[in-house]
Amino acid sequence: MRYHPVPDYHMHTPRCNHAIGIVDDYAEAALLLGLKEIGMSDHSPMPDAFDEWRMDVSELSSYIDEVKETKQRFTGRLDVKLGLEADYFPGTEAYVQELLQAHPWDYVIGSVHYLGELSDRWGFDNPDDLSEWEVREVEDAYCEYFEMVAASARSGLFDIIGHPDLIKKFGHRPALDSQRVAEAEEAMLQAVKEADVALEISSAGLRKPVAEVYPHARIIARAAEINIPISFGSDAHAPGEVGHAMDDCLGILEMCGVEAIATFSGRKRVMQPIRRVSK
Ligand code: ZN
Ligand code: FE
Ligand code: FE
Ligand code: ZN
Repeated sequence: MRYHPVPDYHMHTPRCNHAIGIVDDYAEAALLLGLKEIGMSDHSPMPDAFDEWRMDVSELSSYIDEVKETKQRFTGRLDVKLGLEADYFPGTEAYVQELLQAHPWDYVIGSVHYLGELSDRWGFDNPDDLSEWEVREVEDAYCEYFEMVAASARSGLFDIIGHPDLIKKFGHRPALDSQRVAEAEEAMLQAVKEADVALEISSAGLRKPVAEVYPHARIIARAAEINIPISFGSDAHAPGEVGHAMDDCLGILEMCGVEAIATFSGRKRVMQPIRRVSK
Protein backbone atom coordinates (compact mmCIF):
# COMPACT_ATOMS: atom_id res chain seq x y z
CA MET A 1 0.00 0.00 0.00
CA ARG A 2 1.33 3.41 -0.98
CA TYR A 3 -1.31 5.21 1.10
CA HIS A 4 -2.81 4.89 4.53
CA PRO A 5 -6.32 3.44 4.10
CA VAL A 6 -9.29 5.82 4.04
CA PRO A 7 -12.88 4.93 4.99
CA ASP A 8 -14.81 2.71 2.58
CA TYR A 9 -18.32 4.14 2.56
CA HIS A 10 -20.14 1.98 0.05
CA MET A 11 -21.15 -1.57 0.94
CA HIS A 12 -24.31 -3.65 0.89
CA THR A 13 -26.11 -6.43 2.77
CA PRO A 14 -28.20 -9.36 1.49
CA ARG A 15 -31.36 -7.31 2.10
CA CYS A 16 -30.91 -5.85 -1.39
CA ASN A 17 -31.20 -9.36 -2.89
CA HIS A 18 -27.86 -9.13 -4.72
CA ALA A 19 -25.22 -9.08 -1.97
CA ILE A 20 -23.80 -11.66 0.44
CA GLY A 21 -22.37 -11.59 3.97
CA ILE A 22 -23.38 -10.08 7.28
CA VAL A 23 -22.21 -6.67 8.46
CA ASP A 24 -19.72 -8.30 10.88
CA ASP A 25 -18.07 -10.01 7.88
CA TYR A 26 -17.60 -6.66 6.12
CA ALA A 27 -16.12 -5.21 9.30
CA GLU A 28 -13.73 -8.16 9.71
CA ALA A 29 -12.62 -7.80 6.09
CA ALA A 30 -11.97 -4.09 6.66
CA LEU A 31 -9.91 -4.78 9.79
CA LEU A 32 -7.74 -7.28 7.90
CA LEU A 33 -6.97 -4.56 5.35
CA GLY A 34 -6.03 -2.09 8.07
CA LEU A 35 -9.01 0.21 7.60
CA LYS A 36 -9.99 2.37 10.56
CA GLU A 37 -13.49 3.16 9.34
CA ILE A 38 -16.23 1.81 7.09
CA GLY A 39 -19.80 2.73 6.34
CA MET A 40 -22.63 0.45 5.29
CA SER A 41 -24.85 1.88 2.56
CA ASP A 42 -27.43 -0.66 1.55
CA HIS A 43 -30.01 0.14 -1.13
CA SER A 44 -32.84 2.07 0.51
CA PRO A 45 -36.51 1.23 0.28
CA MET A 46 -38.33 3.13 -2.46
CA PRO A 47 -42.05 3.68 -3.00
CA ASP A 48 -44.42 1.59 -5.12
CA ALA A 49 -42.47 -1.59 -5.87
CA PHE A 50 -39.70 0.47 -7.52
CA ASP A 51 -37.58 -2.64 -8.21
CA GLU A 52 -36.50 -5.83 -6.44
CA TRP A 53 -32.89 -4.73 -5.86
CA ARG A 54 -33.41 -3.18 -2.42
CA MET A 55 -34.65 -3.88 1.09
CA ASP A 56 -38.34 -3.69 1.81
CA VAL A 57 -39.34 -0.89 4.16
CA SER A 58 -40.16 -3.59 6.73
CA GLU A 59 -36.44 -4.54 6.78
CA LEU A 60 -35.15 -1.06 7.50
CA SER A 61 -35.09 -1.39 11.28
CA SER A 62 -33.24 -4.74 11.14
CA TYR A 63 -30.66 -3.10 8.84
CA ILE A 64 -30.14 -0.21 11.22
CA ASP A 65 -29.97 -2.54 14.23
CA GLU A 66 -27.43 -4.81 12.57
CA VAL A 67 -25.14 -1.88 11.70
CA LYS A 68 -25.44 -0.52 15.26
CA GLU A 69 -24.64 -3.93 16.75
CA THR A 70 -21.53 -4.29 14.59
CA LYS A 71 -20.54 -0.75 15.52
CA GLN A 72 -20.76 -1.75 19.20
CA ARG A 73 -18.83 -4.98 18.73
CA PHE A 74 -15.98 -3.28 16.87
CA THR A 75 -15.69 -0.21 19.11
CA GLY A 76 -12.05 0.74 19.57
CA ARG A 77 -10.95 -1.29 16.53
CA LEU A 78 -13.07 0.00 13.66
CA ASP A 79 -15.47 2.90 13.31
CA VAL A 80 -18.68 1.71 11.61
CA LYS A 81 -20.95 4.35 10.12
CA LEU A 82 -24.63 4.07 9.30
CA GLY A 83 -25.20 5.05 5.71
CA LEU A 84 -27.70 4.43 2.97
CA GLU A 85 -27.63 4.35 -0.83
CA ALA A 86 -30.84 6.01 -1.91
CA ASP A 87 -32.00 6.20 -5.51
CA TYR A 88 -32.65 9.55 -7.06
CA PHE A 89 -35.68 9.54 -9.29
CA PRO A 90 -37.99 12.50 -9.92
CA GLY A 91 -41.29 12.01 -8.12
CA THR A 92 -39.84 9.96 -5.25
CA GLU A 93 -38.21 12.87 -3.37
CA ALA A 94 -40.87 13.22 -0.65
CA TYR A 95 -40.72 9.50 0.15
CA VAL A 96 -36.92 9.57 0.36
CA GLN A 97 -36.88 12.74 2.40
CA GLU A 98 -39.21 11.21 4.98
CA LEU A 99 -36.99 8.13 5.23
CA LEU A 100 -33.88 10.25 5.66
CA GLN A 101 -35.42 12.33 8.42
CA ALA A 102 -36.68 9.33 10.35
CA HIS A 103 -33.28 7.77 11.19
CA PRO A 104 -29.83 8.85 12.43
CA TRP A 105 -27.84 8.40 9.20
CA ASP A 106 -24.17 9.33 9.17
CA TYR A 107 -24.39 9.95 5.41
CA VAL A 108 -26.61 9.25 2.44
CA ILE A 109 -25.34 8.34 -1.03
CA GLY A 110 -27.62 9.44 -3.86
CA SER A 111 -27.40 7.24 -6.94
CA VAL A 112 -28.97 7.37 -10.38
CA HIS A 113 -29.69 3.87 -11.70
CA TYR A 114 -32.64 4.71 -14.00
CA LEU A 115 -33.49 7.11 -16.81
CA GLY A 116 -36.83 7.98 -18.37
CA GLU A 117 -40.31 8.21 -16.88
CA LEU A 118 -41.26 6.65 -13.55
CA SER A 119 -43.75 4.30 -15.24
CA ASP A 120 -41.37 3.38 -18.08
CA ARG A 121 -37.85 3.45 -16.70
CA TRP A 122 -34.65 2.21 -18.26
CA GLY A 123 -32.36 0.48 -15.75
CA PHE A 124 -29.27 1.31 -17.78
CA ASP A 125 -26.94 -0.52 -15.37
CA ASN A 126 -29.02 -3.70 -15.44
CA PRO A 127 -27.59 -6.45 -17.70
CA ASP A 128 -31.20 -7.47 -18.53
CA ASP A 129 -31.88 -4.01 -20.02
CA LEU A 130 -28.85 -3.95 -22.35
CA SER A 131 -30.94 -4.17 -25.53
CA GLU A 132 -32.12 -0.59 -24.93
CA TRP A 133 -28.62 0.56 -25.96
CA GLU A 134 -29.41 -0.63 -29.50
CA VAL A 135 -32.17 1.98 -29.88
CA ARG A 136 -30.49 4.83 -27.97
CA GLU A 137 -27.88 7.29 -29.10
CA VAL A 138 -24.98 6.93 -26.68
CA GLU A 139 -24.53 10.70 -26.61
CA ASP A 140 -28.21 11.23 -25.67
CA ALA A 141 -28.00 8.62 -22.92
CA TYR A 142 -24.90 10.27 -21.41
CA CYS A 143 -26.47 13.76 -21.50
CA GLU A 144 -29.73 12.54 -19.99
CA TYR A 145 -27.75 10.69 -17.33
CA PHE A 146 -25.59 13.68 -16.33
CA GLU A 147 -28.70 15.89 -16.21
CA MET A 148 -30.30 13.39 -13.83
CA VAL A 149 -27.15 13.34 -11.64
CA ALA A 150 -27.17 17.16 -11.56
CA ALA A 151 -30.82 17.04 -10.47
CA SER A 152 -29.92 14.55 -7.75
CA ALA A 153 -27.38 17.02 -6.36
CA ARG A 154 -29.86 19.90 -6.57
CA SER A 155 -32.49 17.82 -4.70
CA GLY A 156 -30.55 18.54 -1.50
CA LEU A 157 -31.33 15.04 -0.27
CA PHE A 158 -27.84 13.54 -0.42
CA ASP A 159 -24.33 13.93 1.01
CA ILE A 160 -22.49 11.93 -1.66
CA ILE A 161 -23.15 11.37 -5.36
CA GLY A 162 -22.60 7.63 -5.97
CA HIS A 163 -20.55 6.28 -8.91
CA PRO A 164 -20.93 9.57 -10.85
CA ASP A 165 -20.56 8.17 -14.40
CA LEU A 166 -22.25 4.78 -13.96
CA ILE A 167 -23.74 5.20 -17.46
CA LYS A 168 -20.43 3.87 -18.87
CA LYS A 169 -20.75 0.54 -16.99
CA PHE A 170 -21.02 -1.71 -20.06
CA GLY A 171 -18.46 0.24 -22.05
CA HIS A 172 -20.75 2.34 -24.26
CA ARG A 173 -18.81 5.52 -25.02
CA PRO A 174 -19.73 8.75 -26.77
CA ALA A 175 -17.25 10.29 -29.20
CA LEU A 176 -14.28 11.65 -27.24
CA ASP A 177 -14.81 15.11 -28.73
CA SER A 178 -18.55 15.25 -28.00
CA GLN A 179 -19.20 18.85 -27.03
CA ARG A 180 -22.67 18.00 -25.71
CA VAL A 181 -21.36 15.36 -23.30
CA ALA A 182 -18.53 17.67 -22.15
CA GLU A 183 -21.11 20.38 -21.39
CA ALA A 184 -23.44 17.96 -19.57
CA GLU A 185 -20.49 16.73 -17.50
CA GLU A 186 -19.46 20.28 -16.59
CA ALA A 187 -23.07 21.24 -15.74
CA MET A 188 -23.27 18.19 -13.48
CA LEU A 189 -20.07 19.22 -11.68
CA GLN A 190 -21.30 22.79 -11.27
CA ALA A 191 -24.56 21.49 -9.75
CA VAL A 192 -22.59 19.29 -7.35
CA LYS A 193 -20.39 22.24 -6.40
CA GLU A 194 -23.38 24.53 -5.92
CA ALA A 195 -25.18 21.96 -3.74
CA ASP A 196 -22.01 21.41 -1.67
CA VAL A 197 -22.15 17.62 -1.90
CA ALA A 198 -19.31 15.13 -2.35
CA LEU A 199 -18.55 12.93 -5.35
CA GLU A 200 -17.69 9.29 -4.86
CA ILE A 201 -14.65 7.65 -6.42
CA SER A 202 -15.77 4.04 -6.82
CA SER A 203 -13.63 1.01 -7.61
CA ALA A 204 -16.76 -0.93 -8.69
CA GLY A 205 -16.23 0.06 -12.33
CA LEU A 206 -12.99 -1.93 -12.34
CA ARG A 207 -15.09 -5.08 -11.77
CA LYS A 208 -17.48 -4.26 -14.63
CA PRO A 209 -17.10 -4.47 -18.44
CA VAL A 210 -15.88 -0.85 -18.63
CA ALA A 211 -12.91 -1.82 -16.39
CA GLU A 212 -12.34 1.72 -15.16
CA VAL A 213 -13.07 3.51 -11.89
CA TYR A 214 -16.14 5.75 -11.59
CA PRO A 215 -15.85 8.58 -12.42
CA HIS A 216 -13.27 9.08 -15.19
CA ALA A 217 -10.05 10.79 -14.01
CA ARG A 218 -10.98 13.81 -16.19
CA ILE A 219 -14.06 14.33 -13.99
CA ILE A 220 -12.06 13.92 -10.79
CA ALA A 221 -9.43 16.40 -11.96
CA ARG A 222 -12.11 18.97 -12.77
CA ALA A 223 -13.85 18.28 -9.43
CA ALA A 224 -10.53 18.88 -7.66
CA GLU A 225 -10.04 22.13 -9.57
CA ILE A 226 -13.35 23.52 -8.26
CA ASN A 227 -12.90 22.02 -4.79
CA ILE A 228 -15.59 19.37 -4.80
CA PRO A 229 -14.97 16.92 -1.92
CA ILE A 230 -14.41 13.25 -2.81
CA SER A 231 -15.31 10.14 -0.80
CA PHE A 232 -14.21 6.56 -1.48
CA GLY A 233 -16.47 3.55 -2.03
CA SER A 234 -15.83 -0.02 -3.18
CA ASP A 235 -19.56 -0.70 -3.65
CA ALA A 236 -18.86 -4.06 -2.03
CA HIS A 237 -21.64 -6.59 -2.49
CA ALA A 238 -19.49 -9.25 -0.78
CA PRO A 239 -17.02 -9.02 2.13
CA GLY A 240 -14.15 -9.88 -0.25
CA GLU A 241 -14.79 -6.64 -2.16
CA VAL A 242 -14.28 -4.34 0.85
CA GLY A 243 -11.58 -1.77 0.13
CA HIS A 244 -11.19 -3.10 -3.42
CA ALA A 245 -8.49 -1.18 -5.34
CA MET A 246 -8.41 1.55 -2.70
CA ASP A 247 -4.71 2.14 -3.27
CA ASP A 248 -5.25 2.58 -7.04
CA CYS A 249 -8.11 5.01 -6.38
CA LEU A 250 -5.97 7.04 -3.97
CA GLY A 251 -3.24 7.10 -6.61
CA ILE A 252 -5.71 8.55 -9.13
CA LEU A 253 -6.83 11.12 -6.56
CA GLU A 254 -3.24 12.18 -5.90
CA MET A 255 -2.56 12.44 -9.63
CA CYS A 256 -5.65 14.65 -9.93
CA GLY A 257 -4.54 16.97 -7.13
CA VAL A 258 -6.93 15.71 -4.43
CA GLU A 259 -5.29 15.93 -0.99
CA ALA A 260 -8.11 14.92 1.37
CA ILE A 261 -11.01 12.49 1.53
CA ALA A 262 -14.54 13.28 2.71
CA THR A 263 -15.77 11.51 5.85
CA PHE A 264 -19.15 11.90 7.55
CA SER A 265 -20.71 11.71 11.00
CA GLY A 266 -24.35 12.55 11.60
CA ARG A 267 -24.45 13.98 8.05
CA LYS A 268 -21.67 16.48 8.81
CA ARG A 269 -18.68 16.34 6.49
CA VAL A 270 -15.12 16.27 7.82
CA MET A 271 -12.15 16.22 5.44
CA GLN A 272 -9.36 13.78 6.32
CA PRO A 273 -5.91 14.20 4.72
CA ILE A 274 -4.78 11.44 2.34
CA ARG A 275 -1.42 10.29 3.64
CA ARG A 276 1.31 8.45 1.80
CA VAL A 277 2.95 5.60 3.69
CA SER A 278 6.51 6.77 4.41
CA LYS A 279 9.21 4.32 3.50
ZN1 ZN B 1 -26.27 -2.99 -5.43
FE1 FE C 1 -25.50 2.16 -7.12
FE1 FE D 1 -24.08 0.34 -4.02
ZN1 ZN E 1 -24.17 0.85 -5.93
